Amino acid sequence: MELKIKLSSQLKDKPVDENNLGFGKIFTDHMFTMDYTIEEGWHNAQIVPFGPIELNPSATCLHYGQEVFEGMKAYRTESGDIKLFRPEENFKRLNISCDRLCIPLFDEEFLLKALVELVKIDADWVPHTDGASLYIRPFIIGTEDSLGAHASHKYKFIIIMSPSGAYYASGINPVKIYVETNYVRAVIGGTGFAKTGGNYAASLKAQDVAAEQGYSQVLWLDGVERKYVEEVGAMNVFFVIGDEVVTPKLQGSILAGITRKSAIEILKSWGLNVNERKLSIDEIVEASKNGTLKEAFGTGTAAVISPIGELKYGDYIMNINDGKIGEISQKLYDTLTGIQWGKIEDKFNWVYDVK
Ligand SMILES: *Cc1c(COP(=O)(O)O)cnc(C)c1O
Repeated sequence: MELKIKLSSQLKDKPVDENNLGFGKIFTDHMFTMDYTIEEGWHNAQIVPFGPIELNPSATCLHYGQEVFEGMKAYRTESGDIKLFRPEENFKRLNISCDRLCIPLFDEEFLLKALVELVKIDADWVPHTDGASLYIRPFIIGTEDSLGAHASHKYKFIIIMSPSGAYYASGINPVKIYVETNYVRAVIGGTGFAKTGGNYAASLKAQDVAAEQGYSQVLWLDGVERKYVEEVGAMNVFFVIGDEVVTPKLQGSILAGITRKSAIEILKSWGLNVNERKLSIDEIVEASKNGTLKEAFGTGTAAVISPIGELKYGDYIMNINDGKIGEISQKLYDTLTGIQWGKIEDKFNWVYDVK
């Protein structure tokens, strides 16, 4: 497929203060778009000036939530080069999400090439400030003008990009997490393993309840027994119990995080005992009581590693590592961000050069 390029004639001013970028509020000069129809398949791939899209109010995505997305980042190294982190994994996962949401699959290799072109065109938007990066949001929506409750016959694939500030502008502060026992995020057989907007809409209520009580995220339990740990907010979760590092097994209700996968590989390379298995909240309470719960942290593209300093389950409050970041969490954070920013050797061959 050919990639058409229409450059913007009016480039925007770039943010002067890269320390106050926030997250996802400003967008670069260009975006990628591609259309799907049953007759033509995916076609009309183009890079165009960033701007509003035309959508009929009857478009399927607005009514029945047929949408999937990805989240990734472009990093600028000290030498000025731009890198992506395991981008093939994002496009692979997007196709897995597409399949679950009955959205037609796309050519992953072509999309990666198109993304690289887009990043090159807007290269000046990749922040120069330590810790800041260019957040990349590929997404697909059903666009057929029809209220019929069936899979859309038309789709739009879009990639937008947003320079975003350092997640930990003032140092890594462990977060307080509320164990959610009322609402659930996903069930096996549902859409938990797909990155789709509906999962987020369904999780807002619990997020509100946690926030009212002064907690920043919720720890989700499984949807059937409300017993086994799943994820924390929109991050995967790890616990260090005694000498074992445990993360819940992927069973269809959990998002297969790329940071999760990378963390497991790094931890294994250090010779640690890492296990993907079922982990009950009771086991965590027990470990907290007998002093073997050493560390807990979330993993995801945005924060990379988000240490957990406190967990509240019912009336029981668990203090983890005195509310401070643990040794393994810190070392993992340093290693992952070091690889992403080209500061340490990329032994795993994860970094992709934009050139
Ligand atoms: C995106 C996401 C993650 C983290 O995935 P990464 O690939 O590590 O960024 C975890 N859980 C949910 C629900 C997510 O949407």
